[in-house]
Amino acid sequence: MSLTLKTEAIVLRSIRYGEADRILHLYTPDSGRIGAIAKGARRTKSKFGARLEPFMRISLVLRKGKGDLATVSAVDTISAYSGIRMSAGALDCAARSCDALSRLLDGPDPHVDAYNLLANMLAALNANPQLGTPATQVAFRLKLLVAAGLQPQLSGCAVCGADVDTVGFSGAAGGTICEACTHQGFPLGFEAHRFLVDSLARPISDVPDVDDLALRQAERVVAETVEHHAQIRLRPAGAR
Ligand SMILES: [Zn+2]
Repeated sequence: MSLTLKTEAIVLRSIRYGEADRILHLYTPDSGRIGAIAKGARRTKSKFGARLEPFMRISLVLRKGKGDLATVSAVDTISAYSGIRMSAGALDCAARSCDALSRLLDGPDPHVDAYNLLANMLAALNANPQLGTPATQVAFRLKLLVAAGLQPQLSGCAVCGADVDTVGFSGAAGGTICEACTHQGFPLGFEAHRFLVDSLARPISDVPDVDDLALRQAERVVAETVEHHAQIRLRPAGAR
């Protein structure tokens, strides 16, 4: 018995398979991550055309049978985001965004906020490929943590509970830490803290300026939160 699913999705990865097929990693608003096969997708006269490239936002019909992979039976483009393909920085940022989401939310649970965040990220890169920087990628990942229910505490001390100025961060405690608790984490300067707080308050198309040291600290906040609370590792936010 097979079930038909009509959904929209973003193509996270598109892998050549066999002589003419493609295996797709899709992210959907209501069914999380789905693996699918598009048979004959690489033939010149394929009915799918060029609608199954990475980062495209599509609406599609899937047939789900007994196996792990659903079968694509029809595809329409919602947004091709072709501007992303014009810039190496935008392409790299889009790929790291899809990879981070794929690692953090790899099951069938719905995370509509994460889907919308990725769609906003791709739309922003498409409109302005200059946004494709490591700073944008760190801001995206921080927002992704929030969408996944893993938001780090960014005020007060997550170890002793003191409501004081903070000087560090502890992934294990899940938040910023005070002077007295520094042995439990790593240093987080004022600039890095400001970047994290401002990134959460602003849209992904308006990431705050940040220097390299502060960005490294902010990236470490995201990386250690993910390692401690989701037991996974993310690729670096960018080549530096
Ligand atoms: Zn403390």
